Amino acid sequence: MTAAVLMPASVDEAVDMLNSSPGARILAGGTDYMVEVNYGHAKPKSVVSLRALDALRVWRRDGDTLELGSGIRFADIQTSELAKLVPALAQAARTIGSPQIRNAATIGGNVATASPAGDGLPVLFAMEAVVNVAGVHGRRALPINEFITGVKRTALGPGELIVSISVPVASGPQEFLKVGRRNAMVIALANLALIVDGDRRKVACALGSVGPTIIRCDEAEGLVARKVNWDRMRLDDPQVYQDFGELCANSARPINDHRATADYRRHAIAVLASRALMRTL
Ligand SMILES: Cc1cc2nc3c(=O)[nH]c(=O)nc-3n(C[C@H](O)[C@H](O)[C@H](O)COP(=O)(O)OP(=O)(O)OC[C@H]3O[C@@H](n4cnc5c(N)ncnc54)[C@H](O)[C@@H]3O)c2cc1C
Repeated sequence: MTAAVLMPASVDEAVDMLNSSPGARILAGGTDYMVEVNYGHAKPKSVVSLRALDALRVWRRDGDTLELGSGIRFADIQTSELAKLVPALAQAARTIGSPQIRNAATIGGNVATASPAGDGLPVLFAMEAVVNVAGVHGRRALPINEFITGVKRTALGPGELIVSISVPVASGPQEFLKVGRRNAMVIALANLALIVDGDRRKVACALGSVGPTIIRCDEAEGLVARKVNWDRMRLDDPQVYQDFGELCANSARPINDHRATADYRRHAIAVLASRALMRTL
């Protein structure tokens, strides 16, 4: 059976197509979805391809908010002007798959897949990103922690698509770190994003691959926010690096699986968190 491939020329047309073809699936870069199709896990009657939708590939800055079109590819994020505005997202982008994958894989696809190991997600959770969605009833915006509801589950309704993702522009250092079984082309055993926002005097840390969804580390964040010398943007007490790592590891809820044990993942988080804090503050 072959699937009909629909090519909308606008977001509104994409929404119309999704709603007039029940069961139609969205295709962006295809790096997750085509794996499902190739393994026979998905047998779509029709597919709405977003590839020709240039409107989804643009980004714009409005004051302190950056709006990233859902069709922006990780290859676009890792080197462009965006890499200066959201350096942790660029770091995450550089770890995703291979150059071929990054040339196709989109940020919207990473969010919609909602894998606990998705490398873009810890950065978006730490930045408290907002997911902007379009559907027949108009547009709505959801905080990312409400948009992603579980392992590969989202709050996206039938016939809806992600138009863009909004993040604040933070004034301070950022870091993304990932551990896998190899150095490249690897699914994360643990990943972590740390965002320091000097203007808002805020520290945000999010963990991936160590729970059903991305986990924020409230206690660890609070510890650092209290200990930072915000005027000099530095930490004077070296004990904080270790304590931060341990608190982040305590927030993790990893499982044992064929890739790693829960204990290894918790240990990896402690190391990544301390290292990220040393690099940022
Ligand atoms: C070899 C290989 C290596 C990989 N390595 C990594 C890695 O290191 N890190 C990582 O995080 N991921 C990795 N991935 C997974 C994948 O590349 C990413 O998750 C990617 O961001 C998916 O984006 P896409 O545009 O290809 O999505 P697609 O495959 O086109 O779509 C994925 C899902 O999202 C839905 N979707 C896509 N766009 C939208 C939208 N705008 N609105 C609503 N729903 C939408 C689709 O219907 C589908 O269900 C890898 C995949 C492969 C094949």
